[in-house]
Amino acid sequence: MTGKKEKSKERKEKRLQEISLLRTIPYSDHQRWWSEETIAVVTGANRGIGFEIARQLAGHGLTVILTSRDTSVGIEAAKVLQEGGFNVDVHQLDVLDHESISAFIEWIKEKYGGIDILVNNAGVNYNLGSENSVEFARQVVDTNYYGTKRMIKAMIPLMRPSAAGARIVNVSSRLGKLNGRRNRIEDETLRKELNGLDTLSEELIDRTLSTFLQQVEDGTWELGGWPKAFTDYSVSKLAVNAYTRVVAKELSDRPEGEKIYINCYCPGWVKTAMTGWAGSISAEDAADTGVWLALLPDEAVTGKFFAERREVNF
Ligand code: NDP
Repeated sequence: MTGKKEKSKERKEKRLQEISLLRTIPYSDHQRWWSEETIAVVTGANRGIGFEIARQLAGHGLTVILTSRDTSVGIEAAKVLQEGGFNVDVHQLDVLDHESISAFIEWIKEKYGGIDILVNNAGVNYNLGSENSVEFARQVVDTNYYGTKRMIKAMIPLMRPSAAGARIVNVSSRLGKLNGRRNRIEDETLRKELNGLDTLSEELIDRTLSTFLQQVEDGTWELGGWPKAFTDYSVSKLAVNAYTRVVAKELSDRPEGEKIYINCYCPGWVKTAMTGWAGSISAEDAADTGVWLALLPDEAVTGKFFAERREVNF
């Protein structure tokens, strides 16, 4: 390992230790804007990072709706938390399936009336190590980006007014960084458009994704100047990051008492099924920034990208 890489690894490990410590510090009464009446929905929560986010949020005393695309797997996962004494409810939810989302909306309305926190965690990736197949590009983009978008659009009308504001947290990835030194979109004009808050729009994001998917279909994507590593996944997460900013801007003029704050974060490289358990950190550590963002007492943060509880550039 080079000196530089070693230093960066050391810094990361130190930060993770700091965060483990921070996690043990209880929120004070005046920071705790939530109670067991506060409802948090987590997508893809039957395993991995989503399960951990659900567990930690429930551990802070909220009511968590653990959602899973497979009903029985969700029930089993929820049982683990319920047996631990947590307030956890469970419901089927497939972010690719409009009917599943509609049924979920109806159930939430009927049983809880609304929600306070949405964590968009459900995601897929079909490459490991140095692989870079785009065979499943459509499913990757549809789940990671359009699934997140569908859930945001479906849940915003259900978000309850509160003094602290409702929260949306998108689990994203540094691989989707627009301005990273490596693995970025080559087209500088497109990068600038996606970066500028005045030029960035939902329409631009969707158009970028449909160009990418069209090139995948035509077999020309390798000449398209897309991110080089985990191309389909990186493009999908770039879209999630950009959409986070678009929604933050759209929501910014809501009146006091009806605020909704939205942020995204990179959990790190995590030991879950998605990485073939090859990651460098545990799901517990990976969930931390998501939980922290969902519970921020200083609610005015919105439209930002975080890693290890610190803001990073898009
Ligand atoms: P896992 O593969 O362990 O978990 C992914 C979860 O998403 C599963 O619960 C899965 O359900 C669910 N899911 C997939 N498709 C859908 C769908 N259509 N509808 C509902 N749920 C769905 O991966 P991780 O826990 O590692 O990943 C969680 C999030 O973290 C993802 O968004 C991922 O992109 C992100 N991330 C992960 C990193 C890592 O290193 N692991 C790094 C950066 C980001 P099922 O069990 O049914 O398949």
